[in-house]
Amino acid sequence: MGRLIGNLYAVGGSTLTHYWDANAYLVAGDEPTLIDCGSVVGYSALKKNLQSLGYEAKDIKKVIATHGHFDHVSAMALLRQESDAKFYIHKMDREQVETGDPDKTASFLYNEPFPQVHVDGELQDGEVFNIGGFQLQVIHTPGHSPGSLSFYVKAPELNFLIAGDTLWGGYHPRVGSDIDKWGASLDRLLELDFDALSWGHGQPTLIYEAKVKVAEARQQLGIYFNPWFKPFYLNFRY
Ligand SMILES: [Zn+2]
Ligand SMILES: [Zn+2]
Repeated sequence: MGRLIGNLYAVGGSTLTHYWDANAYLVAGDEPTLIDCGSVVGYSALKKNLQSLGYEAKDIKKVIATHGHFDHVSAMALLRQESDAKFYIHKMDREQVETGDPDKTASFLYNEPFPQVHVDGELQDGEVFNIGGFQLQVIHTPGHSPGSLSFYVKAPELNFLIAGDTLWGGYHPRVGSDIDKWGASLDRLLELDFDALSWGHGQPTLIYEAKVKVAEARQQLGIYFNPWFKPFYLNFRY
């Protein structure tokens, strides 16, 4: 766990909370915001990590989701019980988290129910937020899931991308993956100017030479993914 840049901290992930968990980030500051919040099973560890940075669950004001999958946002139902945090997601991934759809939330991979959670607002392509000293732009990058988002962040020092599972995510029709849309999304990311990136799994850190990495992901799309969509913790290391 630790600070990535400015007010951005890694607070969740396979080595930080639970081995099922996707990476989760805290944007500290006046309006403490989480980018993804991990799974229900990682929630108690997430809280400990927040506490070590001086935050309680009740201090979290917003959670913005890269997409509506179990490993990224199923902890939201628990956070909701202890905070007034508002939950934001793209409209194409909204219904599945509000109904707990086991396919679309990918919770079938974990043999766990997805706890239904109310969505407070929808994130739209092109929207820009100023949080914690960053300017964060929402980019709709469908492909892994219909409502997958990437966050394009401008910090004083550099520009970086929080790409979620748009980079190296699994493909499966049951979660609504679409290879053509995914390719177009990666092409769109390649038009942006960024120096570093962080993605949904692997070490929660900033990876440099980021455009080369995204170009590799684009080239390997449809070739490199695992058609059985095994969860990352079983078979995928980067
Ligand atoms: Zn994931
Ligand atoms: Zn996913």
